[in-house]
Amino acid sequence: MPKEGREMAGFLALIVDAATKGYLDPEPKTGIRCFHQNCDGTILIRVEPRDGFIFWKCIVCGEEGRISDWQKTKGEGVGIP
Ligand SMILES: [Zn+2]
Repeated sequence: MPKEGREMAGFLALIVDAATKGYLDPEPKTGIRCFHQNCDGTILIRVEPRDGFIFWKCIVCGEEGRISDWQKTKGEGVGIP
């Protein structure tokens, strides 16, 4: 479980990184692989402009989630869309 948690943290960091680089198109090509080892899907991300939440979803297995405090995970100095 600790290993899985670490991989998840890295996965979320990739999503935050992509979102802050401006992949805000309806179908952004993030190139981020799903964190499930048996899934070849890539991750779509969407930034909710109203509250700044980042939503992500795997196009294959449908795994999805929301990152609400990503500003904290990136540290200060990150431009908020
Ligand atoms: Zn997946």
